[in-house]
Amino acid sequence: MRYKDSRDALEVFIKLNMQLIDLKKFQLANAEAIRKILKKYEKRTALTLPVAEQDRILPLLSSIGLVAMPSDPNASRPPSLSRVLVVLMTESLLPITPFIDDYLCLICTSIAFKPIRPDCRHLFCVRCLAKMQKRGQAECPLCRAQTVLTADRTNVDYAVWNFMMDWFPKEAKKKLKANEAEAASEELEAMGFDTQSECVVM
Ligand SMILES: [Zn+2]
Ligand SMILES: [Zn+2]
Repeated sequence: MRYKDSRDALEVFIKLNMQLIDLKKFQLANAEAIRKILKKYEKRTALTLPVAEQDRILPLLSSIGLVAMPSDPNASRPPSLSRVLVVLMTESLLPITPFIDDYLCLICTSIAFKPIRPDCRHLFCVRCLAKMQKRGQAECPLCRAQTVLTADRTNVDYAVWNFMMDWFPKEAKKKLKANEAEAASEELEAMGFDTQSECVVM
C-alpha cells in the first residue's frame, strides 16, 4: 500500500510538472506574440516605439499576467480578456495608431508629401525643400543644421511615402495636385504670365 501511494504521488508530481512546463511554454508564446504585434505596428506606422515606452508597457502587460516577467510569481494568473483589451487599446495601440499630425511638413503645415528628409532627418515635403534650395537657404529651419542644400533624391523617404499612400491616400493625392498646380503657375510666372488675374478667353 505504501508503495502504491508513493507511485501515485510520483505520478501526480510528474503530471504537475508537465502542466507547469506547458504553462511556461504558453507564457513564452504569448510574450513572443506580443513582441511581434508591437514590432509589426512599429513597422506599419514607421514610427518607432521608444525604448522607454517598451519599459513602461512590459511591466504593465506583466501586471495583468499577459507577459511573464522573470521575477513575477503571479505570472501564470489568467488575465480577464476585457481587461487585456482595454489595457492594450489605451496603452499600446492608441499611441501608435497613425495620426496625420505626425506626418506634416512643418513649413506648409499640410501632409509632407512627397516626403523628404535632409541628413538631419527632419521631415518636409519635397516642394518646400525645393523652395528652400531655390532661395539658397542652407539651414534646416528646425535644427539649423546645414543640411538643406545637400539634400537630393536619395533623401526621399520611400518608407514614409508608401506608408502615407496606405494610411492617408486622400490627403496625399490632394497635396500632389496642389503641388502640381503650384509648379504650373510658377512656370507660367517665369514665362511672364500673370497667374493672379482672371483667365481671359480669346
Ligand atoms: Zn511643405
Ligand atoms: Zn533639421
